[in-house]
Amino acid sequence: MNTVILVLGASGQIGTELTQKLRLLYGNNNVIASDIREGNTELMSSGSFEIIDATDKATILKIIQKYKVTQVYLLAAMLSATAEKMPQKAWNLNMNSLLAVLDLAKDKHIEKVYWPSSIAVFGPTTPKENTPQKTVMEPSTVYGISKVSGEFWCNYYYEKFGVDVRSLRYPGVISWKIKPGGGTTDYAVDIFFKALEDKKYECFISENTHLPMMYMEDALNATIQLMQADSKDVKIRNGYNLAAMSFTPKEMASEIKKHIPDFEITYKPDFRQEIADSWPNSIDDSQARKDWNWQHKFDLKAMTEDILKSLKKR
Ligand code: NAD
Repeated sequence: MNTVILVLGASGQIGTELTQKLRLLYGNNNVIASDIREGNTELMSSGSFEIIDATDKATILKIIQKYKVTQVYLLAAMLSATAEKMPQKAWNLNMNSLLAVLDLAKDKHIEKVYWPSSIAVFGPTTPKENTPQKTVMEPSTVYGISKVSGEFWCNYYYEKFGVDVRSLRYPGVISWKIKPGGGTTDYAVDIFFKALEDKKYECFISENTHLPMMYMEDALNATIQLMQADSKDVKIRNGYNLAAMSFTPKEMASEIKKHIPDFEITYKPDFRQEIADSWPNSIDDSQARKDWNWQHKFDLKAMTEDILKSLKKR
């Protein structure tokens, strides 16, 4: 059967680029973008777009039937920093959207579901270095609680109802096309814009805080690779650990300085520091590498070069 994809939350940081990549792969007419707000011009002009509230199961079903959708990528969510300010709203969005989509898959309206989890499933009691696939998951943020619960639901729907749901625990995803949507790792995007505009940046995370990160291109490739993997190779149905690099704001600043020597960074940690402190320093993603041959391409050096080159061109 023809693959037709509906992306929920397509106007966001990951959704915008993932939708474009899926359109290249499956054809513009076979990838329907949707969000509660319109996206950028490229997203809106390259294929169909529908306004959909991802918690509104009836509307999602209507659109699935309208376009004969076979797969849903659910990217709508409230991210870590914003969720701490609106816990109830974050929980409702993050949980109700997932349960709506899983139910639609259980009732055979769609064949496959993608739903991203996050390193936020881990908490202060998790081993910090090379955090294993299976370990303590006691998150201290609302966002993390919603992600860990979501993972359990995904696994439950797979085990009980045979729903083909797949998930990745993204680290901080770094990109330059679309500004990020209220996460704790957003500094690693902001820093590039400020470095080019003002040659200085005040960082809201302290200088020696290690966090796992990934360049957008790697995150998109991992997502598509996982979704295209043979079902029998997808052995983890809650969420795969996924890694590429891990660095501190200080290390990132010194990499940027190689290209912009007079760039200055200062540090003024805010409430996001506590969230960052509760997350792992680095992630062991050997299971993803073994099960479906995951390989990252970008390290800090290659990513910094690519972003600065792309932003200067723009
Ligand atoms: P984002 O905030 O940039 O985008 C989320 C999109 O969801 C926005 O366009 C927003 O308008 C939309 N949205 C909000 N409420 C909605 C609703 N009720 N119905 C439909 N759409 C709604 O987030 P992102 O960075 O693109 O993240 C996408 C997914 O990846 C999320 O599940 C997030 O938790 C996960 N993730 C992201 C990162 C990261 O670094 N960006 C890291 C780990 C996990």
